[in-house]
Amino acid sequence: MKIGAALGFNLIDYPGKIAAVAFTPGCNYLCPHCHAAPLLANTKDIGDQGFLQYLDTVKEWVTGVVICGGEPTLQPDLIPFIEQVRNRNLAVKIDTNGSNPKVMAQLLARDLVDYVAMDVKGPEFLWPATAGVPGYQPEMLESMKLVAQFPIYEYRTTVVPVIREGENISFLTVPEMAAAAQLIITATGSSAHKYYVQKFIPRKNGLLDKRLESFPETPPQLLQDIHKEVLKHLPNTQVRG
Ligand code: SF4
Repeated sequence: MKIGAALGFNLIDYPGKIAAVAFTPGCNYLCPHCHAAPLLANTKDIGDQGFLQYLDTVKEWVTGVVICGGEPTLQPDLIPFIEQVRNRNLAVKIDTNGSNPKVMAQLLARDLVDYVAMDVKGPEFLWPATAGVPGYQPEMLESMKLVAQFPIYEYRTTVVPVIREGENISFLTVPEMAAAAQLIITATGSSAHKYYVQKFIPRKNGLLDKRLESFPETPPQLLQDIHKEVLKHLPNTQVRG
């Protein structure tokens, strides 16, 4: 499997685990706020064998592996790679944009993943602006349903600045975030999900759309207002960031 970058290990990316992180290159979305712009060119590959060998050297204390990106489900040899991680008795977390329910279904059927974190890019009518896709993506709803069947899972939405008609830029609003929460309920038929409302953090010289680099972080008051409203839909919602 192609790995564009890796992190030795940390306690942040996989709750409850000390986890090494593999970033896969390439993505099928073009979110303007994407922090992984250098990875998306899909050219760099530091090699999975080196990563697996690294896992062998830290097996005394590393307890999990996070596979994120880019979009990991685009990697044709994702499953054999995960099997090699699993052979080392490590837990596996995957971060996904939900665009590839076929692969998610295979991972589920083969019991290969312990934890899935799926991005929900706001309400569906904003996906062209938040995810850079042409329009409605039924795959995303299909993935939402599947995600809820993994042993541990979460949905999450970053409260990003949205480039709207007329080039106006403003953060996702309280009603838009309520609509995103409602979409999860509609897709899964349940409101009993862990959902994270995340803060947007700008990054100089690192976002896919340069116009967002000078935008501020999501204001704390907006996060609080969103949290209060979204809790009415998804009672297990927390603010992260
Ligand atoms: S933020 Fe968007 S473009 Fe970037 S890796 Fe995630 S889904 Fe792909």
